[in-house]
Amino acid sequence: MKKSILVLLVFLSIPICNFAQSFDEAKLLDRLKTLSSDAFEGRRTGEKGNAMAQEYIIKEFKKLNVDAFGSKYKHAFSFKAGGKEYNGVNVLAQFKGTEYPNKYVVVSAHYDHLGVKDGKVYNGADDDASGIAALFSFAEYLSKNPPKHTVVLAAFDAEELGLQGAKYFVEKMKNTTIVTNLNMDMISRSPKNEIYVVGTRYNKNLKAIVEKFKNPTSTKLLVGHDGTDGKQDWTYSSDHGPFHRAKIPFLYFGDEDHPGYHNPTDDFENITPEFYKNSVKIILSLFKEIDKSGL
Ligand SMILES: [Zn+2]
Repeated sequence: MKKSILVLLVFLSIPICNFAQSFDEAKLLDRLKTLSSDAFEGRRTGEKGNAMAQEYIIKEFKKLNVDAFGSKYKHAFSFKAGGKEYNGVNVLAQFKGTEYPNKYVVVSAHYDHLGVKDGKVYNGADDDASGIAALFSFAEYLSKNPPKHTVVLAAFDAEELGLQGAKYFVEKMKNTTIVTNLNMDMISRSPKNEIYVVGTRYNKNLKAIVEKFKNPTSTKLLVGHDGTDGKQDWTYSSDHGPFHRAKIPFLYFGDEDHPGYHNPTDDFENITPEFYKNSVKIILSLFKEIDKSGL
């Protein structure tokens, strides 16, 4: 009798767990705060703070039991920018797909930022510690809800030096079927409570998914900044650019430029936390629709 009650309780708790929050909101903010603290010295590619960020990202993936992509988390590359040689490192994790293991959805953000200039630390809280911290929310969700497609969680390096990490990754993956790139860059700061999505004009499946989407939050999801509305065109503004060049469908999520953009005031204290949590909920919900759709 007791045993059957226990079994019943276990069964009952399964749907309850599934309907509970799919990621830890407090941890989302904590991780953003950590990554954008002065200790990481602005995370400039090739510098100490950047290497610290790599270790931090790997540590968080390991805590969440997320597998490395291929045999390792770190994928090194080199490139030239502004007449200088750099070494960059992408940090990549993956969840194997249950139905379409050979079709990939790449969820990306960049962990590098501008470093220290004139004694001022450019912490890049919104740009793009916000996207990186969101990768761990994805990891929390996917650990409990295995995806149909193989999902790569990509923490790219050297975005600020010309989308270098993403370029390298896309080139390396040219013989792999990537069905969608979801790129998050600056998703935590919007006093207007608006997040933009770019990319629907290039793909009818994604367009239909975004049009049908039931936004679970009070934050506005706006289609725009995509070359159709006279606003700044973001089609190539961040790491989704190389995916788009390779004809891979993408959705890019970002907030409008604010006074902190590429300034030392891009700090944790200046983000808009409710907007940030809502952004992540929106992006994660859209991911679910995309994964379900069998692109
Ligand atoms: Zn950025």
